[in-house]
Amino acid sequence: MPDPAGDIGVKKRAARKPVLLVALGGNALIKKGQAGTIEEQFANLRVPIEQIARLSEKFRIIITHGNGPQVGHLMLQQEACDAVPRLPLEILVAQTEGQIGYMIESTLDEALMAMGIQFRPLVSLITYVVVNKDDPSFQNPTKPIGPGFSGEVARSMPFPTVQTAKGYRRVVASPKPVTIIEKREIKKLIDMDFIVICCGGGGIPVIREGRSFNGVDAVIDKDLASAKLAEEVGVDLFLLITDVEGVALNYGTESERLLRTVSVDQANQYLQAGHFPQGSMGPKVAAAVKFVRRTGQRAVITSTDSIENAAAGKSGTEFTAD
Ligand code: ADP
Ligand code: MG
Repeated sequence: MPDPAGDIGVKKRAARKPVLLVALGGNALIKKGQAGTIEEQFANLRVPIEQIARLSEKFRIIITHGNGPQVGHLMLQQEACDAVPRLPLEILVAQTEGQIGYMIESTLDEALMAMGIQFRPLVSLITYVVVNKDDPSFQNPTKPIGPGFSGEVARSMPFPTVQTAKGYRRVVASPKPVTIIEKREIKKLIDMDFIVICCGGGGIPVIREGRSFNGVDAVIDKDLASAKLAEEVGVDLFLLITDVEGVALNYGTESERLLRTVSVDQANQYLQAGHFPQGSMGPKVAAAVKFVRRTGQRAVITSTDSIENAAAGKSGTEFTAD
């Protein structure tokens, strides 16, 4: 039946639904040990996206995503070819927003159709994120991107690398997000019950110079950009999705212990004590802590197959205000 209230009716109904932001980690597309073919990436995406499609009945949805492997692949591809000019990182970030946005959109569209939902508007948005031109990270690159190499191969690479759980990875500058340029547009879209895919790869880093925004050669951490967006748009539930069940103390050792709930003060102490490395779990914990402190709402870190359980409070590591 046609909706007599038109768009206003849609807006009112949507406004009753809480807002969920799901930040998808790199393994939502490429799992450890995979080469990262497009077939693999589409197949992997179905797991989180089918759950998000079901959750969209109860929540207004924002999806953000990483781009570490994809942007690293693009860098290696262009470095392997001298026939065309090389592109700076911010252009590669823009490319991956298009690439991954397309993949998420089409997977989501299929999942919604399979549920019998014929028309659920969704959109992926090229997102700019302001960074500070004096950010210390420009002098000290810390963000791992691209594939993992053995120590021996890494030593012969013409760029700086860092040891991670995935092997030695290239590191690039990763300034802190200051504000999301499209926050008002994103808010309007979710209020009309659009599912919005945005801040891909942490967003395109830009510096405000007078009246213009200029891109910078860097990659913003998507967890920190997502926390900023969550705060600026007013999110009720923030899920950080990765390849582990939750956050552990003494990770990778015999005394490893999974945290089920942790207060933000306690989590911050563990962060300072070095339980969560800078290039992986560190930014996720920092993002969850920041979001819960600023908003008093729920944040959970969990794995790709536990998104619905985490939303229901049955999985992952949940951060509490006290
Ligand atoms: P994503 O692409 O999801 O951002 P990351 O590799 O950046 O993935 O972060 C997730 C990784 O963090 C896990 O695969 C795990 O190996 C690593 N990790 C490091 N410290 C911890 C910890 N204390 N608890 C759980 N996982 C940890
Ligand atoms: Mg990460």
